[in-house]
Amino acid sequence: MRVLARQVRLSGVVLRLRDVAESHRVVDFLSLEEGRVALLARGARRSRKRFQGLLDLFQSLTVSATVAPGLWSLDGAELVSGRFGIRRDLDGVRRASLLVEITSALTGPQQVVPEIYQALSAGLDAVDHGELSRAALALPALLRAAGLVSAASHCGGCGRARPERVALGTSGRLLCGTCAAGRPLLPATVFAAQSSAEVSAEQARLLEASVVDLVEAAIGRSLKSARVWASLADHRAR
Ligand SMILES: [Zn+2]
Repeated sequence: MRVLARQVRLSGVVLRLRDVAESHRVVDFLSLEEGRVALLARGARRSRKRFQGLLDLFQSLTVSATVAPGLWSLDGAELVSGRFGIRRDLDGVRRASLLVEITSALTGPQQVVPEIYQALSAGLDAVDHGELSRAALALPALLRAAGLVSAASHCGGCGRARPERVALGTSGRLLCGTCAAGRPLLPATVFAAQSSAEVSAEQARLLEASVVDLVEAAIGRSLKSARVWASLADHRAR
């Protein structure tokens, strides 16, 4: 019996691009409808026209695709948001790269978690618009969506209620100043759902470092983007 090819329309974000064979490209795509899927864009490298020069990192697209075992086939793409502001400076690219890598690490293929999709989209929009606080808050939002961080309502060590400042432990527990054991403290509001906390550049850096530690502990390997940028920063500081 012949199985009819199923075609789908998906809204999503480009997480990664890989070149395959002579002229094709594989797009790792986090979609709202089907979770993370790998789409084969035939001829995407040979002809910019094939996808009207679309298919770039961090973009939101609406795509049509044909479902197949393994790679799905990308039939067409329309730009929803190019987020060109991310490339204004290296720091924007660095933040956006970290967001997409953490998202990829925390979502399995075709695992549909709308909260992760929303946290990533909000984070990339914030980087695009140069909004430091909102971009930094996307990291704890991603952890919450993935179920990796405890509630900020009490210390995950001693149980003390409503600590004002907390440290993010590598187990995802939020710890009060007494239990933090030297880990950097941040306002507890940073970890609250729907947070509108104002985050300084220094707090954003500490938050990022804590989140990277936690995610690396959770997935058991290092995050490439975090390491690449750290070595670049070392290099520039010299
Ligand atoms: Zn405590």
